[in-house]
Amino acid sequence: MNVLVLNCGSSSVKFQLIATDLDLIAKNADRRLARGVIERVGSEALVSFAVEGGAKLRTAEPLRDHRAAIDRILRWVVSPEAKVPGVSSLADIQAVGHRVVHGGEKFTKCVVIDSEVLDGIEDTIELAPLHNPANIKGILAARELLGPGVPQCAVFDTSFHSTLPETAYLYALPYQLYRRYKLRRYGFHGTSYRYVAYRYRQLAGLKPKDVNVVALHLGNGASACAIKGGASVDTSMGLTPLEGLVMGTRGGDIDPSIIEFLHDREGLTLDQIDTLLNKQSGLLGVSGLTNDMRELLEEERENGDRRARLAIDMFCARARKYIGAYLAAMGGADAVVFTGGIGENSAEVRGRILKGLEWMGLSLDAARNKAMTAGKEGEVSAPGSRLKAWVIPTNEELLIARDAVRAVKGAPRRW
Ligand code: AMP
Repeated sequence: MNVLVLNCGSSSVKFQLIATDLDLIAKNADRRLARGVIERVGSEALVSFAVEGGAKLRTAEPLRDHRAAIDRILRWVVSPEAKVPGVSSLADIQAVGHRVVHGGEKFTKCVVIDSEVLDGIEDTIELAPLHNPANIKGILAARELLGPGVPQCAVFDTSFHSTLPETAYLYALPYQLYRRYKLRRYGFHGTSYRYVAYRYRQLAGLKPKDVNVVALHLGNGASACAIKGGASVDTSMGLTPLEGLVMGTRGGDIDPSIIEFLHDREGLTLDQIDTLLNKQSGLLGVSGLTNDMRELLEEERENGDRRARLAIDMFCARARKYIGAYLAAMGGADAVVFTGGIGENSAEVRGRILKGLEWMGLSLDAARNKAMTAGKEGEVSAPGSRLKAWVIPTNEELLIARDAVRAVKGAPRRW
């Protein structure tokens, strides 16, 4: 089966086309055929597509909404110029897998989308007003463009965290707020963590129930997850992706009274405070320069910029604090696993996060760490290190495609 994986953001659409099926999954032989991203949907959009080992397309063109963007993707993947192997018409796309950010308490695994599921995703808009509306637009557009005969599946970022115990998912607020509104920690990056846990157990030769790691997904959005016995038992993002680590434009944990302070002193409305917390804080807010870690590292290296250094140091210190907290909460783990754009690519940041953790049995191998960039996976701790460190590039799209195949074929999901 060829599965189109769609990840619709508020002004972007990412896609991958993946050839997979139950027998290919069993042999780990499924493969990506093409991928791409459209940014700035709604204006002069930036289109960047590539076929694996083949044609590439980079253009700017007006694409007014998600439907136009998905139409552009579909037209390209079936076009003679793209030459995607085995794909020459829309009939060659047999299923769609959508990344949906919030599944609330209702969706704990991948589902084939019908009107009831769509209603359920709409119900969670209240919990993810920035994300779920774009996911719904993507689902409706793909259904219209591919027709009702092509099954569409939803894979939720929150699902992997459905195993959180009450002690981890409840906020210590009046309990009736949880009863009334399902106000609780949900956690995000779940598909990424599921992939990391799956791949770690493959590489380390373990059974799922023997996976005990602290995983750090460090990208523009960043979070930590305590994975015990193969299941998520705590995670740093909460009701929304605002809580926890320092991120590109979000500051993570803050004292909630800061909101009232900002309202009183700066005269900001709740909407403006929301923008400040989501879009103007984190690495960008502290450095005053950029939300991009690579640029900050360069600025620190080339110009010794004090606030660039401070932003990076705060990012690393917060991540280190969560590692310590989760190791205590889990009663120890076998490894710290890094993923996400920063976690996968920056030996410097990994080194700074893990600095000084020798006392808890983690010693980094500087040469291994330095060599582990650009898509490589493996261990970066020194031989004999009691607590190990690993890098595993995430692959959420692969799991979404596999989940979609299993959901469509009624096969149980395994990881
Ligand atoms: P993501 O959201 O997972 O795509 O990650 C984006 C973040 O990864 C940005 O802050 C990038 O600057 C950062 N990043 C990507 N490559 C590198 C690199 N080689 N060194 C440091 N940061 C990187």
